[in-house]
Amino acid sequence: MGIAETRIYPINTGWLEADLGTYVFWKGPAGKKIWQPVFCHYVDTGTQKILIDTGLCDEARASRYHHKCEKRGCLQVHEHLEQVLGVHPDEIDAVVFTHLHWDHVQNMVKFRNARFVAPRAEIEMAYNPLPLYYRTYESVYLNVRPAYSECVFEAVENECEVFPGITMFHTPGHSVGHMAVSVATSVGEIVVCGDAIFNLRNLEPNAAEGWRYWVPARFVNSYEGWKSVEEIDKRSDYVLPCHDRLANERSNVFPYDGMPLRKRRQFIPGFKFYFGDMPMDTAERAAAAMNPEDVKDYLASLTPPSPNM
Ligand SMILES: [Zn+2]
Repeated sequence: MGIAETRIYPINTGWLEADLGTYVFWKGPAGKKIWQPVFCHYVDTGTQKILIDTGLCDEARASRYHHKCEKRGCLQVHEHLEQVLGVHPDEIDAVVFTHLHWDHVQNMVKFRNARFVAPRAEIEMAYNPLPLYYRTYESVYLNVRPAYSECVFEAVENECEVFPGITMFHTPGHSVGHMAVSVATSVGEIVVCGDAIFNLRNLEPNAAEGWRYWVPARFVNSYEGWKSVEEIDKRSDYVLPCHDRLANERSNVFPYDGMPLRKRRQFIPGFKFYFGDMPMDTAERAAAAMNPEDVKDYLASLTPPSPNM
């Protein structure tokens, strides 16, 4: 039992339309639409069955109150668990939430035996949203019944190991209380990062602007948002964002043999970090700086933001 047995299964709950420039990439091509999947993640540690977020509702509700939505054959989270993975919703011990935006919390009531663990600042925002975010948190002011209305949350205040091998750490910016969930596995830390980044490309530079990271544009606080991207870079050997098709579709289950692991906090000549160094006692995990002769080829290999990522 434990790290060697821990497996993560991505679950795609449907597709949403968003804007490349106002959502996915800061100063990206605004006006260009992108269809993004909405993943949540089932984690089996051998001793516990845990969900990280619960994903989307049905197409009608999503399209009516939020973004244009297409299910494209995707099931809701509880259906997928039972029909594809053979896990009955009653078996789920806990749902851990990165944040409480509407597309991360649907169908909570299906998990009758689960504890619901969420960042405290997200719980407060969900129950009393800034009016700008009535839709984002499905406020009762919209005459919608929020997905969490019959559920009791356990609030997480500080970074902590919420279950053995499963650590929540602060990654605010996209939302006020956002926390990423780091899962200890046999290949290292796999970070389920919610919406702190939308796409793995967010962790690579925007060369034209001189940015070490091409951070997402959908933020309540860009300063914290950039810091959170640096934090994920320092702590992850693989990243599973909730809206990145490729990162989640490389396999039905993580880790897997031959999976591409990332380099933590690699200095790329010409691109500066803004915040401090690696967390205590992890300095040796940072990658060696990129060789200056390799920078040109590396930058040329990066995918520009496009609706087909
Ligand atoms: Zn979100």
